[in-house]
Amino acid sequence: MSLQKRIQNLIRPEILELKAYGVADPGDLIKLDAMENPYPWPAEIKKQWLTMLESVDVNRYPDPAARQLMTPLRSAMGIPKEQSMLLGNGSDEIIQIILFAMAKSGARVLVPAPTFVMYDQIARFADMECISVALNANDFSLDMGAMKAAITRHDPAVIFLAYPNNPTGNLFDRSDIEDLLSMSNGLVVVDEAYHAFADRTMMDALDEYDNLVVMRTVSKLGLAGLRLGLLTGNEAWCQEFDKLRLPYNINSLTQASAEFILKEGDFLRQQTEEIKKQRQALFNQLQKTNGLKVWSSQANFLLFRVDTMSAESIHNELKQAGILIKSMDKAHPLLQDCLRVTIGTPAENSAFIEALTRIISP
Ligand SMILES: *Cc1c(COP(=O)(O)O)cnc(C)c1O
Repeated sequence: MSLQKRIQNLIRPEILELKAYGVADPGDLIKLDAMENPYPWPAEIKKQWLTMLESVDVNRYPDPAARQLMTPLRSAMGIPKEQSMLLGNGSDEIIQIILFAMAKSGARVLVPAPTFVMYDQIARFADMECISVALNANDFSLDMGAMKAAITRHDPAVIFLAYPNNPTGNLFDRSDIEDLLSMSNGLVVVDEAYHAFADRTMMDALDEYDNLVVMRTVSKLGLAGLRLGLLTGNEAWCQEFDKLRLPYNINSLTQASAEFILKEGDFLRQQTEEIKKQRQALFNQLQKTNGLKVWSSQANFLLFRVDTMSAESIHNELKQAGILIKSMDKAHPLLQDCLRVTIGTPAENSAFIEALTRIISP
């Protein structure tokens, strides 16, 4: 039997159909495609961090419960005392844990669209059907009529709501989310990956709705390389999900580094504030550009569209000018010719605006 034949026989057909999650190689481009914090750490803090790492015994397995990390993480994220926590190797892993736990035969996932692609992608890994309901075209708010109809029709086991949403940058109405929580038999996962840039949370509703859990991550805060996300909510949910968590999913270096930096973390907060200022500045510049539509954003990126040029040409020409952003054109019909740019340093943002203006002015 040829290897190809053997693979065709053995691998699940829905996996054969998938494409691996593509991440562009940035080379030495200015990287404004992945919602990373562009700022390095202060030199003194970096030095203390490296000294601290000398005491980490990487010959030993990490603490499976990450006990030392729990307190600083709780306090940095404002997790209520009475709520439980589950840690993941990035929130991506938590999405995977939730879906693997809930992938009963016929169980469905519901998401608004466009949204974060990993919900749909991981649903496929788990052999679950993922139903998507288009957002309202004008402002990317939830289409509540369609969402309610989908809940009635499909009775989804899980609903994912990114709050703020990626790639649209907006916060859904809290009252809409509460309506979905009230009418849903399933679990509602509110993904607050961009919380630091939005100052809004559904965490204070955890007491009221026992089908709500909230997800956070340190990635967009400036620690994407550590891979650390968390789920918080009722202990009963966390206990079930914890059964699927691989015992040492948070490695020793991540545990020690996150504990260290969250205690020293004032500069991360300052960087976040700076990014919010830069978001406003970049928004203003894009908004006054002729023939360009930009949506306001509560996250660390902006979504925009240029009337006279395809997203693909803009993306390619920016790349030639040394700048990498993300074309969202293929992601969803509502995003036709849309692009997403991450907020960078003032210098990076200026380089982006200069290049973009040159590219789109006739
Ligand atoms: C970036 C992003 C994540 C991924 O978080 P990790 O913790 O880095 O895995 C999760 N949800 C949304 C909506 C995101 O945009």
